[in-house]
Amino acid sequence: MTSSRSYTIAVLPGDGIGLEVMPPALRCLEAAAKRFGFNLEFRHFPWASCTYYHEHATMLPKDWKKDLQACDAIFFGAVGDPATVPDHISLWGSLLLFRREFDQYINLRPCRLMPGVTSPLANREGKPIDFITVRENTEGEYSSIGGRIFEGTDRETVIQNTVFTRIGVDRVVRYAFELARSRPAKRLTSATKSNGISITMPYWDERVEAIAKEYPDVKVEKYHIDILCAHFVQRPHTFDVVVGSNLFGDILSDLGPACTGTIGIAPSANLNPTAKRDDPNQEWLPSLFEPVHGSAPDIAGKGIANPVGMIWAGQMMLEHLGEKEAASAMLLAIENVLKEAKNAHDRGESNILTPDMHGNGTTEELGGEIEMEIGRVS
Ligand code: ATP
Ligand code: MG
Repeated sequence: MTSSRSYTIAVLPGDGIGLEVMPPALRCLEAAAKRFGFNLEFRHFPWASCTYYHEHATMLPKDWKKDLQACDAIFFGAVGDPATVPDHISLWGSLLLFRREFDQYINLRPCRLMPGVTSPLANREGKPIDFITVRENTEGEYSSIGGRIFEGTDRETVIQNTVFTRIGVDRVVRYAFELARSRPAKRLTSATKSNGISITMPYWDERVEAIAKEYPDVKVEKYHIDILCAHFVQRPHTFDVVVGSNLFGDILSDLGPACTGTIGIAPSANLNPTAKRDDPNQEWLPSLFEPVHGSAPDIAGKGIANPVGMIWAGQMMLEHLGEKEAASAMLLAIENVLKEAKNAHDRGESNILTPDMHGNGTTEELGGEIEMEIGRVS
């Protein structure tokens, strides 16, 4: 019998290790679908890759938007081959274009210290690191308004404006409050710099304070970005949900996963949380799920890339699609397998942790073990 819960997923493995971590991640998703009684249809696309670019002199085919909008979500590996294609072509011609065209205004990155991963910041006061960064993904400091004047003279001046719109700020801040409310700690940290950036940042703070009134159950604190970065390193276990503008969120969302060990395990979601698939009055704008890492040309082709970032991104995708039970099982399976492998590693035995986690396992071995565990966890 086929389930009424059925999802179509656009699969874009991309380049480098994207091609290697995608297959085990798809098998994990299939295992979750089978176990929890829903259907996944994968549509594989070879584009949004440098290989495609070499053959077609473009990153995307003409109908790319239609193809992606025919899917419930986009599952993206990694794009880039800087030796043959400049990043501004590969990245702006694919991932960054998707973000803009599908108005993926939230960038989410969970930061969680996983068993098996060595972090220099681990276990301060014996507390786990488990927080999530929410980055505004469409406006702010990354506007292209500005330019150069008096060029070539000694009065040469360069200006680039930050743009905060009320809609743009409110929607990301409100999303972060909702997320904080849904978590046990119910704490929201807002990144600011209103002591130095005296026009836009006080506005950000003002909107956070205004929206906070709708969430009396959420504890709010704000920190200037400089000291907040220091606190990420000194006491990462004290954070829960952290929200920031495009620039501050960018910085924090790289620093966050770095606090929890290897870049190989970290996932990322680019969300349009308000788009509705079956609403005839609005255009369908799918969300995209990817690992934080890039195509890693230095280890590509060796079969040793850590598949956990890609698998965990798949877990976030199931959560987003509403398959909460399957998503919880996938996360637990990742944790169980890493814990078990770490114990073997500590006993000096051969283990399936990939080399970035100081083991001697392969992408397929680690991915395969997580796939099996998804069928077992309760
Ligand atoms: P991008 O610009 O797309 O972020 P990058 O080359 O700057 O790409 P990554 O591709 O993310 O950065 O990788 C940085 C380094 O981290 C790689 O060279 C690789 O050694 C390591 N690395 C990244 N991802 C993984 C992974 N999944 N498993 C093991 N090591 C990884
Ligand atoms: Mg990089």
